[in-house]
Amino acid sequence: MKNINFLAFAMPAFFLFLFIEYKIAQRRKKPEIFNYESSVSNISIGIAERLINLFIAASFYQLYYLIYDDYRIFDIPRNPFVWFALILATDFVWYWYHRLGHEVNFFWAAHIVHHHSEEFNFTAAARITTFQAVIRTGFWCILPFIGFHPAMVITMLIVHGAYSFFTHTQLIGKIKWLEYIFVTPSVHGVHHASDEKYLDKNYGDMFTFWDRLFGTFQTEEEKPKYGLTHPLKSYSFLWQHFHYYFEIYELMKRSKGFKEKWKAVFGSPANMDQDIRPILEKRFLQDNACPHQRLRFKNYLYIQLGISTLVLTVFTYYFDYLQVYDKIFVLSFILITLVNCGALLEQRKWIYYIEYARIFIVTTYFLYEGDLLIFLFVPLAVMIFAEQLFSLSKRYQNVVLQLESK
Ligand SMILES: [Zn+2]
Ligand SMILES: [Zn+2]
Repeated sequence: MKNINFLAFAMPAFFLFLFIEYKIAQRRKKPEIFNYESSVSNISIGIAERLINLFIAASFYQLYYLIYDDYRIFDIPRNPFVWFALILATDFVWYWYHRLGHEVNFFWAAHIVHHHSEEFNFTAAARITTFQAVIRTGFWCILPFIGFHPAMVITMLIVHGAYSFFTHTQLIGKIKWLEYIFVTPSVHGVHHASDEKYLDKNYGDMFTFWDRLFGTFQTEEEKPKYGLTHPLKSYSFLWQHFHYYFEIYELMKRSKGFKEKWKAVFGSPANMDQDIRPILEKRFLQDNACPHQRLRFKNYLYIQLGISTLVLTVFTYYFDYLQVYDKIFVLSFILITLVNCGALLEQRKWIYYIEYARIFIVTTYFLYEGDLLIFLFVPLAVMIFAEQLFSLSKRYQNVVLQLESK
């Protein structure tokens, strides 16, 4: 069955709320709420998650139905009281999913990405990866297993997800009386803080009583310092997604015996060897031109993010109507553009290879569409000649990597 996907409207809605938040922050003279590089990086990661989600969401839903149809424990009817029970059950499962996300290395590898952000605004809410979505789905399977109907579960997950979007903002201050029941932006801000007293607190998504019950509740006292205790000093799109998996692998290699290796994967992130990351960063992130300068080509970045968002919105809307090759084209086009955005922020010398790859993907797609794939040698030849005759890569480096000093 083909459906129009109304999740497409999530993207314009997100940018609308972000725009409102940004304008209010400016009006209140709090521009420090936003940081250019970090916002761009958060949005890029959110775009990738929404994009990949299109390919896997259907299988998540099928899994809920399969578990419900074949393995459910109870036959729970559908009535208003059940909705109330479901919202509590959902938040309870979330509490443990989230808490284990902080207490088990393998889960933390996915969840750490959400906490890289040293900003706390709506862009941080978008900072979620597909790995996290996959692990979360594993936890959500408990709900249809108990006997909640998958249609209810899916609706509830959308509501639950939307709620947590609005808890990522500094514009709403502390509302003490509301904290007795609900997670407010101030409560969730504490969760995002790296201050000693705020660590490993406030795992709830909608309600605070799970945290109160299990002793992890902390109200906001001093203003939090947002981000990780050991911040990641990179905006590389790929490195941000994968660095902690590499760290786990490295720790496993260093560990002797099964028990130690097991602990490397399933032990606590608090025991992660902090010497590992700098060594890996030296190995993988060497060639940036000059990371501490301001980028001149912000507009180029905005255009890329704008086009990615637009393409993703239309793509989401018509996803069910598209052919496989259209889907593969859009997937690779957007992913490569996001890698490009991260590389631009970091001023990587190899960006022009990505530019070539993208031109190649786009021309291949249109030649394929026009049944002209036999002419694929033409763009290839043009690129090779242009490089040889005009040293395009050098010019590109001079123009795009040319930096203006502060
Ligand atoms: Zn967290
Ligand atoms: Zn958060």
